[in-house]
Amino acid sequence: MKALEKIYEGKAKILYTTSESNRLIQYFKDDATAFNAQKKGTIVNKGVINCAVSSEIFKFLETKGIQTHFVEKLSDREMLVKKVQIIPIEVVVRNAVAGSLAKRTGRPEGEKLSETLVEWYYKDDALGDPMVNRDHIRIFKWASDAEMTEIEKKAKKINTLLVPYFETRGIQLVDYKLEFGRSPEGILLADEITPDGCRLWDMKTKEKMDKDRFRFDLGKVEESYQEIFKRICK
Ligand code: ADP
Ligand code: UDP
Repeated sequence: MKALEKIYEGKAKILYTTSESNRLIQYFKDDATAFNAQKKGTIVNKGVINCAVSSEIFKFLETKGIQTHFVEKLSDREMLVKKVQIIPIEVVVRNAVAGSLAKRTGRPEGEKLSETLVEWYYKDDALGDPMVNRDHIRIFKWASDAEMTEIEKKAKKINTLLVPYFETRGIQLVDYKLEFGRSPEGILLADEITPDGCRLWDMKTKEKMDKDRFRFDLGKVEESYQEIFKRICK
């Protein structure tokens, strides 16, 4: 399957059509952005690492009965996926306090949550992806109540699978962002699961191994992505 026409170029990936109308190719770039694209840069080899890591995780989730858009990894940077209609909501799943949750609540970073916390953000770069609740989502018709209930259930199931998956690799899964899309097969997990959209801490040292190293200029950015790649893909 070959990439035909570029239909969308985002901050981290490019989408191409293919010869099959229900299949797209996701091409993973090295470009990195943070703080609503105010900070821009490159993480050498990130595209290769993210394509491999996301493929591994989607394959794992599929074996556990989670329907995803993943079809096949085509090359170092290309993933064949089922075309979906993306639901314009970023679903953030949290196991411990970090990032915007620490800011919003004043709770200390790293505090473990007594249960899985699911949050909803409206996917709109111009607005800075504002946090919204289920009433906003239903009233503005971004998704139906039934879809949100299904998505929340899937997000929690995904979390119960991914926490031990990362733990066995010495990684604490602190929080992450999921996107879902509508397809003829129903609602599928789409987009990517990579260190770009997850907070991943080394279980022993508590060192950050994700895009926070780029966001906050912590150094060893490439090395950390490489280490995640090693622990997930080798
Ligand atoms: P952004 O749009 O936030 O800059 P990316 O650079 O990652 O993000 O671009 C990838 C885009 O592709 C995202 O907007 C994402 O919602 C969308 N997408 C992911 N998976 C699929 C899919 N299976 N079908 C259609 N669109 C998808
Ligand atoms: N996240 C993401 N894309 C976004 C916003 C958040 O991938 O547009 C991820 C982020 O990497 C983190 C989690 O979602 O793993 C929670 O992010 P948070 O709300 O704490 O916001 P941030 O600190 O990234 O501004």
